[in-house]
Amino acid sequence: MHLFDHPDFDGHEQVVFCADPESGLRAIIAVHDTTLGPSLGGCRMWPYASEAEALRDVLRLSRGMTYKSALAGLPLGGGKSVIIGNPRTDKTGALLRAMGRNVERLGGRYIVAEDSGTGVPDIKTMAQETAHVSGVVEKTTGNGGTRSGDPSPSTAYGVFVGLKAAVRHRLNRTDLEGLTVAIQGVGSVGGHLAHFLRDAGARLWITDINAEQARRVADAVGATAVAPDAIFDLDVDVFAPCALGAVLNDDTIARLTSPVVAGAANNQLAEERHGQALSDRGILYAPDYVINAGGVIDVYYERAGHDHERVMRHVESIADTLTEIFARADAEHRPTAAVADRMARQKVGRAR
Ligand code: NAD
Repeated sequence: MHLFDHPDFDGHEQVVFCADPESGLRAIIAVHDTTLGPSLGGCRMWPYASEAEALRDVLRLSRGMTYKSALAGLPLGGGKSVIIGNPRTDKTGALLRAMGRNVERLGGRYIVAEDSGTGVPDIKTMAQETAHVSGVVEKTTGNGGTRSGDPSPSTAYGVFVGLKAAVRHRLNRTDLEGLTVAIQGVGSVGGHLAHFLRDAGARLWITDINAEQARRVADAVGATAVAPDAIFDLDVDVFAPCALGAVLNDDTIARLTSPVVAGAANNQLAEERHGQALSDRGILYAPDYVINAGGVIDVYYERAGHDHERVMRHVESIADTLTEIFARADAEHRPTAAVADRMARQKVGRAR
């Protein structure tokens, strides 16, 4: 396995392989770029089939974090970490503390937060060994209550305002009353998004491979639950992918009829060319790392001093960024994803 000529290697500043035989930790931390600030990104725990698969994931995800923070206007760089293992069976306190020590060794160049397979309690365990953590502090909410460090409500709010911007641009409407939306995956983000959309008057179809979860959310928001594979064939205004990556591929793009795709999932395009495929079908795609930046904005403010109103105002700026991307994509006849990538690279380039 070669790093420097790996197809996903993008001049990453540092890629660290971490092992702790006693706890069984095998992990990779990738610091993609720290031009704009310390790199911040989640720690994903996943039973990767191979080390090569884990490396590919961490290289791509860390670059995505550089782009995400740059376009969200945050003084942060991009980094990510992956732990090779099954989060249900392999996760122990010793393993998480060993991960914390590896984060500490980077001296603050990488700040770790939660991701798929890790949660607030896991990051708190890592915090026993390192100060370079985020996403763990209890926060005040708009109604004066508190919530855990989990950033997913902010992510969902960002997707909600971004979805509205996409609907305004593509469908020329400013309200969501009667808008039809299909949500794939109603976990932490998709579940919150469903509530925002329901409150705004949208009509919802949802799916989840966890049937119990789908039923619970459908009952709570009055949505229609459908089978996982049926979600691509619905005649709706918006498809909101909030489950897994690579969901926009040759098969699904041919089936989608919604004029807008706007959802939280990371790495939605199976390949770069699928951005063009969506635009060829007249589908407006809200680039994933732009619309789902609410979480990293939330996590940033946790470190900078949390103020609920400021966080929400910053999250709302996602709509302006998307509107600019949509306008440039129209003017240049280019896919929105390509326009976003170039804007992010230019921003980092100028700072450098
Ligand atoms: P989650 O695990 O809480 O929810 C995902 C849900 O999708 C689960 O309920 C799962 O059962 C369901 N699911 C998985 N595969 C599916 C399939 N094939 N069809 C239908 N449902 C399926 O995760 P989350 O925190 O809500 O994150 C959702 C997505 O958003 C992920 O791609 C994540 O990387 C991305 N994201 C999350 C955040 C955040 O703040 N949590 C921030 C940015 C991006």
